[in-house]
Amino acid sequence: MNTVERTKGNLIASALVCCAVVFQPTANAADANANLEPNRDQPMINPAASAQQATTITLLGTMGGPPEDPSGRRAQSSTLLTVNGVHYLIDAGDGVVSRLIKAGVPPYTVRKVFLTHRHLDHTAGLTAFMSQSWFNGWFFRDKYYMDRSTTKPFVEIYGPPDTSTLFEGSMKFLSVSARDADAIGSGTMKLPQEVFSVRTIEKPGVFFNDGTVKVTAIENTHFGIPMPGPIAKNGDFSFAYRFDTPSGSVVFTGDSGPSENITKLAEGADVLVSEVLDFKLLTTESWGVGITKAPNPEQIRSHMERKHLSPEEIGKMAAKAGVKLVILSHVVPGDVSPKYFVEFVAAVKKYFSGPVILGQDLFQYSMVKQ
Ligand SMILES: [Zn+2]
Ligand SMILES: [Zn+2]
Repeated sequence: MNTVERTKGNLIASALVCCAVVFQPTANAADANANLEPNRDQPMINPAASAQQATTITLLGTMGGPPEDPSGRRAQSSTLLTVNGVHYLIDAGDGVVSRLIKAGVPPYTVRKVFLTHRHLDHTAGLTAFMSQSWFNGWFFRDKYYMDRSTTKPFVEIYGPPDTSTLFEGSMKFLSVSARDADAIGSGTMKLPQEVFSVRTIEKPGVFFNDGTVKVTAIENTHFGIPMPGPIAKNGDFSFAYRFDTPSGSVVFTGDSGPSENITKLAEGADVLVSEVLDFKLLTTESWGVGITKAPNPEQIRSHMERKHLSPEEIGKMAAKAGVKLVILSHVVPGDVSPKYFVEFVAAVKKYFSGPVILGQDLFQYSMVKQ
């Protein structure tokens, strides 16, 4: 089958080697990066690809950590996985709603959300996502949002135990508008509690299977080396996820330091979507250099170096796991000159011989089962 390879702007794609994958940026992605895309008028869609039989990764937000990107090119961390036309959202950092809309995906069409951990760069857009899902679901007269004869929530938000705290806060926020909406006579609108539910993942392993997609969670090292046994009831807990789909498998590291658990989870996976962090650049080149003025710089350094992934560590894990492709997202720092991104990719490739892509917002990658 055809394989398309392309280098665009500050996105660095190396040669694709797997014959079952198609690199398929959309018109939306090209529009969003018009100033970075010198060849945007060339045909970019492989005609063999079909949205109905594909697994597509859409990077919605690729910025990690507290500094927001002053250029606006990178929103905070979130990724959409679309399998045979059904959407699965992984994390919901600030900007998730605007990126979904840019990608042509109304928020109300996303019914499954998977949070990796509680940090704000992965969750600050959750309330906005739920608000716009509910509001627009009603506005567009989606039957699931309108039919008051059924009360089973159909938007499910999965995550570690802290997710329920975030969820309850978002529901309280939504309850104010829900009262108003009823009062002005919309009448047919389902209440938020009939739309949204939270599902706490109680233990590592397979926790989701809808007949098409199977999702497995493991604890990573973002909050330290995990203890054996049941997961904590609340507090420091962070997941990596593996999605097995008919067209391929995708592993999301979430935020993590080097992790044997992730390496095992990613064994033989088609794609590893990994966070990446360079502490030195963060303290010298980024808008977020204020971190150097913190009263506890050594503690911060230790957190960044042990509980996040350098490009070299990603390369080692990817090689050991035998994944076919690495996509770097949650880029820290993500607001520096693109010349540094070339170095990120080169550093991963010191240890990993497969293709490596430095992600940018609205970049898409599709796998099509042949
Ligand atoms: Zn993060
Ligand atoms: Zn984090």
